[in-house]
Amino acid sequence: MIQSPLLNPAGSFIHGKWQTDGNKRFEVINPANGNILASLPDVGHAGAQLAAESAAAVMRTHPMSMEARRQHLEIITAGLTQEREALAQIITAEQGKPLEEARGEVDYARGFFEYAAAHLDQLAPRIDKKTVRDCHWQVHFRPAGVVALITPWNFPLAMLAKKLATAIAAGCAVVVKPSSSTPLSTIALWNLFIPKTTHPDFFQLVLGSASEISRALLEHPEVRVISFTGSTAIGKKLISGSASGVKRLTLELGGNAPFIVLEDADTDAAVAGLIASKFRCAGQTCVCANRVFVHEKIAETFFKKLEPAMAQLRVGPGDEEGVTIGPLIHADAWNDVHELVEDAVAQGAELRMGAHQQPPTHSWGAFYAPTLLCNVPPDARIFQEEIFGPVVAVQTFTNVSDVILAANDTPYGLAAYIYSQNKPLAEEIAGQLHFGHIAINSGTGPAPQYPFGGMKQSGYGREGGKEGLFEFIEIQAVASAEIAEK
Ligand code: NAP
Repeated sequence: MIQSPLLNPAGSFIHGKWQTDGNKRFEVINPANGNILASLPDVGHAGAQLAAESAAAVMRTHPMSMEARRQHLEIITAGLTQEREALAQIITAEQGKPLEEARGEVDYARGFFEYAAAHLDQLAPRIDKKTVRDCHWQVHFRPAGVVALITPWNFPLAMLAKKLATAIAAGCAVVVKPSSSTPLSTIALWNLFIPKTTHPDFFQLVLGSASEISRALLEHPEVRVISFTGSTAIGKKLISGSASGVKRLTLELGGNAPFIVLEDADTDAAVAGLIASKFRCAGQTCVCANRVFVHEKIAETFFKKLEPAMAQLRVGPGDEEGVTIGPLIHADAWNDVHELVEDAVAQGAELRMGAHQQPPTHSWGAFYAPTLLCNVPPDARIFQEEIFGPVVAVQTFTNVSDVILAANDTPYGLAAYIYSQNKPLAEEIAGQLHFGHIAINSGTGPAPQYPFGGMKQSGYGREGGKEGLFEFIEIQAVASAEIAEK
């Protein structure tokens, strides 16, 4: 079992109390070595119902003032700074990513609380001096109601931070449901600030069966928004499940990012950007380069630089010095990735690195070697589906209009990357790509200061930046006539 003051207590937090007992339990496993990190109670439908009701009640009776919201954001920011190392170790233990990446995740998470605290004034009412229809008008940004936050396992702290900072800024009580694979980062965050909160019922945390918990959240009339990050398949279930209650959804779903390297690109920079984008979190991120398109004239130069850079990557347990790629989350993930590689090879792709991999012998220890596939046929599954593993799949192209069509030829629209020394051309291409996040001559993913989200089946809504601050807000116009003096 993992020991940390941030994991004591470890359980759900409902109606102001920790719930650590319960017969129905599930285990959290270290994906690198199979060690059992924790055994936690599953609160199921009844626990989620109670949490939603407690959150709804506090919003009815004790709304959170702007000052209290600011204080909460600042307390959490300070806590994340102070407990950076302890949190990073918990992330690595339950998720598997290298410790240095986990530290980066804590810093990234902190950025959302810092940003929201610094921009809370965006949510102050807008008061118009004009008289329209004999009334003075005000526009208020009211809390939308209880918000359910459902998060995935690949960034267990950062994906929560995006949502929680926004909910606090909006004055919404939350019911958080983390992935059962990685609930410890959320529990650690709760231990970090719950002792300091004056508003415990604003922060409900429920662990356990996703289908039971989400059913309770969908049923409760005062849960007005469901903010979900995860697969498109579950996102679609939530869309249909929320119809009868006409709930608002924020959906951050899967991606299939094109990474386009034009003929005039700086190939050193493109290789560095690809390594950063592709191998973060062992390739298990929604913004990972998934389909690499390299101009045929520079393809060999590109591969000659990419291969040694990939050879430098070191696969192993995330807490081992020098490791750059941790395990995949479980053996099923390994099998999914390997099937995609085998399908591509069967369809004629050339396997240039990462051949002859042995499947893991347990559900854990699913280490996948960095793999390079060239000449991938466009209809190979690896080009159609999200890889979620450390595999680079490359196709060459000859002209720009074809590569734009190919890049857009996917139901997803989350992230895209363009490398070219012709910046106006790269910006023109960006305008033709149907993706919510575009990086030019950079492998960067999103930043807390700017909105991030998908187009098409990658979801809707935005997280981060000023735009993201309005995600859990209801806009209310108040028209007020002068009272005639008697
Ligand atoms: P997932 O299977 O969809 O799970 C995500 C979350 O949904 C987990 O908390 C899971 O809980 C929960 N869940 C499972 N079944 C549910 C149901 N019927 N109703 C409501 N919630 C349910 O996705 P994942 O495998 O954890 O994450 C990988 C996916 O997330 C990838 O497709 C990736 O692209 C996407 N992602 C997107 C973004 C983005 O910003 N767009 C960021 C990160 C990841 P349990 O774990 O308890 O089952």
